[in-house]
Amino acid sequence: MQDVPTKLKKYQVYIDGKWCDAASGKTFETIDPYTGEPWALIPECDAVDVDRACEAASRAFESGPWPRMTQTERGRLLRKIAGLIEKHGEYLAQIEVKDNGKLISEMAAQLKYLPEWYYYYGGLADKITGMVVPVDKPDHFTYTLREPVGVCALIIPWNSPLLLVGFKLAPALAAGCTVVIKPSEYTSASLLEFMKLVIEEAGVPPGVVNVVTGFGATTGEALVTHPKVAKVAFTGGSATGSRVASLASASFKKVSLELGGKSPNIVFDDCIIDEAVNGAISGIFAATGQTCVAGSRLLVQESIHDEFVERLVSVAKTAKLGNPMSYETQVGPVTTPPQYQKVLNYIEIAKNEGAKCVLGGGPAGPEMGGGKYFVQPTIFTDVDNKMRIAQEEVFGPVLSVIKFKDEEDAIRIANDVIYGLAAGVWTQSVKRATIMPRRIRAGTIWVNTYRAMSFTMPFGGFKSSGVGRENGITGIDEYLETKSVWISTAPNTGNPFVMKTAVQS
Ligand code: NAD
Repeated sequence: MQDVPTKLKKYQVYIDGKWCDAASGKTFETIDPYTGEPWALIPECDAVDVDRACEAASRAFESGPWPRMTQTERGRLLRKIAGLIEKHGEYLAQIEVKDNGKLISEMAAQLKYLPEWYYYYGGLADKITGMVVPVDKPDHFTYTLREPVGVCALIIPWNSPLLLVGFKLAPALAAGCTVVIKPSEYTSASLLEFMKLVIEEAGVPPGVVNVVTGFGATTGEALVTHPKVAKVAFTGGSATGSRVASLASASFKKVSLELGGKSPNIVFDDCIIDEAVNGAISGIFAATGQTCVAGSRLLVQESIHDEFVERLVSVAKTAKLGNPMSYETQVGPVTTPPQYQKVLNYIEIAKNEGAKCVLGGGPAGPEMGGGKYFVQPTIFTDVDNKMRIAQEEVFGPVLSVIKFKDEEDAIRIANDVIYGLAAGVWTQSVKRATIMPRRIRAGTIWVNTYRAMSFTMPFGGFKSSGVGRENGITGIDEYLETKSVWISTAPNTGNPFVMKTAVQS
């Protein structure tokens, strides 16, 4: 395995099967959030580079080897990609940690699991079928075809870059689409390494997978509005998602959106308390709160509230802060300087709103094991669900504890946010375990577990948490169009002015 670069490494982008600089020659720095030091230079692509990438993807979709490959061959290629991720997973995980500061234990586990997405959609590639559909016109043979949508723009945030690319790239390639990927400006390196070690090495034909790096307002918007792009698959914040959807809808592109959350983790008094404490802690602190499904609102039944909070704090304060590259570390830095500031601002907002800080509540310097952009694991009690700390996504290690009376009260509070991405329920009652998932308006509900995820299970949000579903068999629908074919078997086509043969619109 190669070593993670220690000197400023200059990356190039991958367009039409070739490595190149941005047309302008401009670059920008990416920093290591543990040290705060720049460690790589990334090309700053603009509309010129985006146009080259989209034209290349369009050519590769229309001509050349890609559209001539059979679905079985595409499936084999996806399995080859999976094998190469297995080979390079540990190195790619280290690059992700260097760039986004999340824990190596989390990123290595993600990279270990990631090949399954490519194996799964590789297996699905030759099982995409249309249907022969009966119509009430005896002289017609009618069926549907399921065809690739075309060029897809895949836009990715910084928190789990390669996993979130996999949610989109694997089904897009299985469907026969070509893609242009734009990673976050904070974490572009792992995708560029992935292109070299996996996509190029696997022999994916030129133009099928392209990468442009740069900023949202320039690179991102040029991509979302490019006339050759037929579909936009976006993961990121809800406000950005809304802007992306409105730009894309001007030219009627297909859009899927995986957005933010403010997920409730609901603890009933009949739960196994130790398990619920562990679930609450891993739900918020495991990824330093930087996960869209973070259980950032902990709803605790009032009958066990005080005892539960005491046990929660006693476990949370044992969290070991440190270098995210060490397997011993349990809480790492916040990924970006603006995000660090945003988390600290929310802590002040919560204090001013009257929430009670029972753990943490500020930056974590080296004396606490922290470093440049560290925030102490923070717990607020006495939180009212109307407060901003309960309504807005913080995306950091900050937990709001909210009391509830009974099931109805828990459901009311759980649903009383603009988001609907995920929820957790801790109970030993079969009745509650059945009723709660039906009544909570969210895309994923976990009972007596939290943050479990699989390539086979659909994932996505209700309300401001998104549109569409990724993963599972449904995930491939986002990359397919349905075409209806009518073949007349009538002996002749009648004169329309003499007799009507079919209902025509
Ligand atoms: P972000 O919305 O700031 O950026 C996401 C991506 O969009 C980046 O690549 C960015 O450059 C690009 N972008 C920004 N403005 C754009 C524009 N105007 N046009 C086109 N592209 C633009 O999000 P972030 O801060 O990188 O990530 C954190 C957010 O992502 C959180 O809200 C989190 O909940 C969400 N998220 C959601 C999921 C999910 O599956 N639902 C998963 C991970 C993260």
